[in-house]
Amino acid sequence: MPVHEMSIAQQIIMTVEKILREHPGETCKSVHVKIGELTAVVPESLTFAYQALTEDTPLASSSLCIESLPILAKCRSCDTVFGIRDFEFLCPNCSSHEIDIQQGEELHIEKLELVS
Ligand SMILES: [Zn+2]
Repeated sequence: MPVHEMSIAQQIIMTVEKILREHPGETCKSVHVKIGELTAVVPESLTFAYQALTEDTPLASSSLCIESLPILAKCRSCDTVFGIRDFEFLCPNCSSHEIDIQQGEELHIEKLELVS
């Protein structure tokens, strides 16, 4: 099993369990996460890891919904905002390498769907 996704799934589960402790009597139906492409997380592997780690736990019936966020960057010289493909960190407008990453490093839980 991929180690990277395993540890991320573990962190997600720990956070969900913590939130569930604050909501006694409720169970988690689904976990919505946002993951930027720069994190190099493979959504299928993360789903697999989540299912494997929640097996035989109260979270076994919950599902993990992953939203992938593409990498977006902004050029410092011409202010162009562009998507990055194939990890080519270059402004398509002026070919500058002076860019700021605006999106793609996210890795957080967006929301939990709890049912009582
Ligand atoms: Zn530029």
